[in-house]
Amino acid sequence: MSNHLFDLVRGNLPADPAAKAFIETPEGRRYSYADLLARSGAYASALAALGVRTGDRVAVQVDKSPEVIFLYLGAVRAGAIFLPLNTAYTGPEIAYFLADAEPALFVCDPAKREALTEVAARAGVAQVRTLGGDGHGTMAEAADTAATDVADVARGPDDLAAILYTSGTTGRSKGAMLSHENLASNTRTLVDVWRFTADDVLIHALPVFHTHGLFVATNIVLATGATMLFLPRLDAKQILGLMPRATTLMGVPTFYTRLLKEPGLSREAAAHMRLFISGSAPLLAETHREWEARTGHAILERYGMTETNMSTSNPYEGARIAGTVGFPLPDVALRVVDPETGAALGAGEVGMIEVKGPNVFQGYWRMPEKTASEFKADGFFITGDLGKADPDGYVHIVGRGKDLIITGGFNVYPKEIETEIDALPGIVESAVIGIPHADFGEGVTAIVVAGAGAPDEAAILSHLEGRLARFKLPKRVLFADDLPRNAMGKVQKNLLREAHAQLYRG
Ligand code: ATP
Ligand code: MG
Repeated sequence: MSNHLFDLVRGNLPADPAAKAFIETPEGRRYSYADLLARSGAYASALAALGVRTGDRVAVQVDKSPEVIFLYLGAVRAGAIFLPLNTAYTGPEIAYFLADAEPALFVCDPAKREALTEVAARAGVAQVRTLGGDGHGTMAEAADTAATDVADVARGPDDLAAILYTSGTTGRSKGAMLSHENLASNTRTLVDVWRFTADDVLIHALPVFHTHGLFVATNIVLATGATMLFLPRLDAKQILGLMPRATTLMGVPTFYTRLLKEPGLSREAAAHMRLFISGSAPLLAETHREWEARTGHAILERYGMTETNMSTSNPYEGARIAGTVGFPLPDVALRVVDPETGAALGAGEVGMIEVKGPNVFQGYWRMPEKTASEFKADGFFITGDLGKADPDGYVHIVGRGKDLIITGGFNVYPKEIETEIDALPGIVESAVIGIPHADFGEGVTAIVVAGAGAPDEAAILSHLEGRLARFKLPKRVLFADDLPRNAMGKVQKNLLREAHAQLYRG
């Protein structure tokens, strides 16, 4: 039977699946491609035995382990829709997602089983299983005894393979419906543009509940017969130690700033690596430059989102420009338009980024109106990100539409001010936000993380005065020990806006 996404794995299996490692862990566990076929097949059987049918959702909130990947593929092979949830979510949050998704089965970690079984029951989900652990009735145990040589449930390109909730950076998370072809086509394209082969060894230290670690990184490896070195979390020392036997690293910007703090990071340490990729949040130009100076490698930055998979990439060959996310992928159409009129904008003009292609999702789960409002009549998806293309065609992300500050009738792009502040000596980073203000609508406000020797509020303001138009100047500069970030390294400006909502209200 043809199962469109899993066909990508089958079609690219190593010649001797038992001999080639798919996943290796630091504790020395090793799973071959033969194991991958057997384990995912066993999960597919176990899911079917639990009554999971074609099109049913399988919701999963578990710590990272190779079993999650096998369960993901098992669900795909069973014709189900895989629905991973962020491990940071608490009971009430899980309750919301389960009620929204109505999965046939919810899989969680043993430590949370009791509490989450109650949560699930209240959300109308009757079946809860743990993935591993020593209790009875675990998914892993069921898979141990299930048949491994199952027939895959037939699924075509347009059938759903996954529902992935967005990160919730700008508001409540929405379930993005991803088809088999959304994932398969993006995987094929990325394998091509990033030149992945069976010889690649990818350091995988990302979470597996997000598009970056679950789909981009994992699917590329699966589709080439390459190997993943699977770390439970970001550990700079561990990553450094693996580089001599690895070829590629996929990370969020935090990976690179942490690794740069390691004295052992050098050209020699990175000599075996061929590619460092960054995405999910903006990579500071300074990090890009420091990394190149220390390792001799220019980080390849790319841009994507839960709804679109990957949309742009800096070139594999050719200049990888710091502060840009490169060019639209070969099968992706990208345009920058005036958010008000929809008119296409020229090079250098900042506007709304819209994309169209086989990578773009099928809509938001149970939100037909929201879906309709985010797509244009000609099929382009409105990303919500502001950006521009430069004269050479490189795309720059300027920020989120929702972060745009309108003060006294003027548009202010936070990134422009952040870039100026971040360049000052002693400044670690900054976030510029709009806070309700009686006179201006929103007052431009800078939250600054300062290190030794950093300027104070007055000095920062006087520096900015000479460089930015008056209406862009922060009304206040506040200092903080760090900026709130989620697991993907994204700054949570909504939390900052909430924390300082009363700043200009006397
Ligand atoms: P929500 O949609 O729920 O508010 P989210 O947009 O953070 O959350 P994701 O889909 O995980 O959820 O993140 C996609 C967003 O991440 C993009 O829309 C963009 O704003 C940002 N992003 C991804 N890659 C980059 C990059 N290289 N540079 C700048 N921003 C990036
Ligand atoms: Mg988003």
